[in-house]
Amino acid sequence: MNNKVTELLELDRKYVWHPFTQMRDYEDRYHVPIIRAEGMKLYDAYGNYYYDTISSWWCKVLGHNVKDIQNAMIEQMRNYEHIMFAGFTHEPAIKLAQKLIEITPRGLEHVFYSDNGSTSVEVALKIAVQYWANKGRKDKDRFVFLENGYHGDTLGAMSVSGTSQFFEPYNSLLFDSFMIPSPYCYRCKYDKAEGDCNYECLAPLRDILETNHDKIAAIIIEPLVQAAGGMIVYPVEYLDTLMKIVKQYDVLIIFDEIATGFGRTGKLFASEYLDESPDILCVSKALTNGTLPLAATIVTDEIYYAFYDDYLKGKTFFHGHTFTANAIACSAAIKTIELIEKRRLVEKLPQKLRVMNEYIEQYKDFEFVGDIRNIGTIVAFELVKNKKTKERFKKTKRISWQISLSSLNYHIILRPLGDVLYFNLPLCIEISEIKEIFSIFEKYASKEIRNICNGNC
Ligand SMILES: *Cc1c(COP(=O)(O)O)cnc(C)c1O
Repeated sequence: MNNKVTELLELDRKYVWHPFTQMRDYEDRYHVPIIRAEGMKLYDAYGNYYYDTISSWWCKVLGHNVKDIQNAMIEQMRNYEHIMFAGFTHEPAIKLAQKLIEITPRGLEHVFYSDNGSTSVEVALKIAVQYWANKGRKDKDRFVFLENGYHGDTLGAMSVSGTSQFFEPYNSLLFDSFMIPSPYCYRCKYDKAEGDCNYECLAPLRDILETNHDKIAAIIIEPLVQAAGGMIVYPVEYLDTLMKIVKQYDVLIIFDEIATGFGRTGKLFASEYLDESPDILCVSKALTNGTLPLAATIVTDEIYYAFYDDYLKGKTFFHGHTFTANAIACSAAIKTIELIEKRRLVEKLPQKLRVMNEYIEQYKDFEFVGDIRNIGTIVAFELVKNKKTKERFKKTKRISWQISLSSLNYHIILRPLGDVLYFNLPLCIEISEIKEIFSIFEKYASKEIRNICNGNC
């Protein structure tokens, strides 16, 4: 048995290039070979299990191996799998669009499908620019984005992401955009305490809009959580204020809810916390419960009808992907949403979050835990060398890499973002699982994290 596994892993090493990975780190170790997944657990070929505490990159809101979703996919597959989506249409895509319009913020009326988060962002950016061009304002082709914002790894998405540490080699290819400060309260550049400020960090936005609104098509934002930028949870009031400022100008608002959608923040969409709706909304990740790649860019009537005209007027949105609106993926998404609703998973969250919060409270005094950020099922711990000065660990120490490897010995997955460790737990998590996972974390944090951090101070 183990010989066969090793053989396979040798082939992995020989042929496969993994994402976000320095492959040389695997010169003397293998990737973890998973052979089965069920609920919250992953099982490897050696008989170990791991709680999938990051929901397999934030997708598995309902956990793994959900029979109802699989059956919906199989049923669809027996009928047809994929139909080109120009000139043809089908029930799963239509029904899903109808459902998405029903559950997303008011004002959003039309769904454009694509395959993944990054493509849904590219679609949003192109729609925003062409919207203004179709209205005769060709100069409005720039974007505003937030420092620490992340919108994907394609060139357009990278151009409006504020996580430049990932993108350095490509800088010369990215188009110019306007960056505003991150609402990163723990490391406030204006030296204010969280909840005790006048959102001074929005002043640059006011200036940029005042001077450049004629050039700006849209602002793109991850509402309430800058996810890949370090699970930076920020106040609703900040975003309400930001939106009110932007609405004074002819500038569209794009919400990237690829990470926050489908219950993550305690509501079905983070947008529900806000006074106003965005003009464009991107969803992906949890949309199909991580069964197949699918994404949607959802827009208002106002935007849709700026493209709707005689063909020869040249207003058509010439964009599409081969797998647009894949029928099996759409069926999986319909079933995912249906199950979230039927099982009342969002409604049942507060009870679970109360249990979680009791644990989180205790971690505040932990050595090396500088900040704890929490919204919905997202819990993040920012590790610092010195809690008083908030001094960071040296990058060369690779604290996060060491922690991510050692956490597996404790049956949990801590895949850090910089020196931020996080949980992104599924909505289906049981209270007993919360208790088990957080008890493990407590044991782990008080021993392993301390050892690793201490050894690197
Ligand atoms: C993951 C993510 C993306 C990119 O999605 P992919 O499917 O990985 O291309 C974009 N925006 C946010 C907020 C994300 O979390």
